[in-house]
Amino acid sequence: RAKGEGGGLHFAYEPQLHAKAEERRLLELALREALAKDQLHVLYQPVVDAISGTVMGFEALVRWTHPEMGPISPVKFVPVAEEARLIAPIGEWVLRTACMEAVRWPDDVRIAVNVSAEQLAHPSFVPAVISALAQSGLEARRLELEVTESVFMNEDAGALRVLDQLLGLGIQLSLDDFGTGYSSLGYLSRTRFNTIKIDRSFVVGASKNTPESLAIIRAVVTLADSLGMATTAEGVETEVELEMVRRLGCKKVQGYYFGRPMAAQDAIGLFPPQQERARA
Ligand code: C2E
Ligand code: MG
Ligand code: MG
Ligand code: MG
Repeated sequence: RAKGEGGGLHFAYEPQLHAKAEERRLLELALREALAKDQLHVLYQPVVDAISGTVMGFEALVRWTHPEMGPISPVKFVPVAEEARLIAPIGEWVLRTACMEAVRWPDDVRIAVNVSAEQLAHPSFVPAVISALAQSGLEARRLELEVTESVFMNEDAGALRVLDQLLGLGIQLSLDDFGTGYSSLGYLSRTRFNTIKIDRSFVVGASKNTPESLAIIRAVVTLADSLGMATTAEGVETEVELEMVRRLGCKKVQGYYFGRPMAAQDAIGLFPPQQERARA
């Protein structure tokens, strides 16, 4: 940012700001079109039991491939969608798609879907969840919704009420990217999360034996245990990382070591064929 009163400096920075805003606007337009033209798809990453290696479920991860720009990361387009009020329709589409897919899996396999704070605040959210379950025939207990600490940012009573409604429907809740946001332990007592997902940054640290990361994971597992919540270690890439989080007591693990986010037909391919249920 320009300092002092030298007018010229201010103008020198403007073209960059303008270019950023322009890029955002273009991305927003392209995203609107993507939604209308079926350019989005969903990949599924396995979540496995840390001890037995059994597949407990999958996390649905949205993907966007633009015809000219190619693949665009959700890290880049989800924030644009949030700002442009497109996250509700996109998120609802992901939810429907993921539920329709999950009914084909064995009965005890869950589907986890990410939900942003903006989505949770939208009045259409709970009705959309109810209709995704009804349309797909998926039992509520098989759906897990992942939220981050950001849903608690503005001391929002509305968010707590929505989370309670979801729990009332029998849906599972998990707290994603734990430890990376504006953490306050207070909200852990206000919402009954089933699972705390420990962010990959701590997993990487732990495998390098960073004492701080080890201590943090150990403390989170202890906290989760005493609150009756499970823990998932995110982003496990190596055998060393697996051994570490397993020894620290994480119940579930997820990461490239077990499987990258994969297409629906590869996800169902992980199960013996006789377990596949016919599409409702
Ligand atoms: P997240 O929910 O924390 O998802 C985990 C991210 O870590 C995914 O990135 C996944 O591909 C990546 N990952 C998994 N295993 C490993 C690993 O072993 N190593 C490394 N380095 N990374 C791993 P992805 O798919 O790019 O998604 C990024 C974020 O975008 C997600 O973070 C989530 O916050 C958001 N997102 C993705 N799909 C959706 C969606 O449908 N709706 C909303 N609201 N957000 C979404
Ligand atoms: Mg997630
Ligand atoms: Mg995460
Ligand atoms: Mg994340």
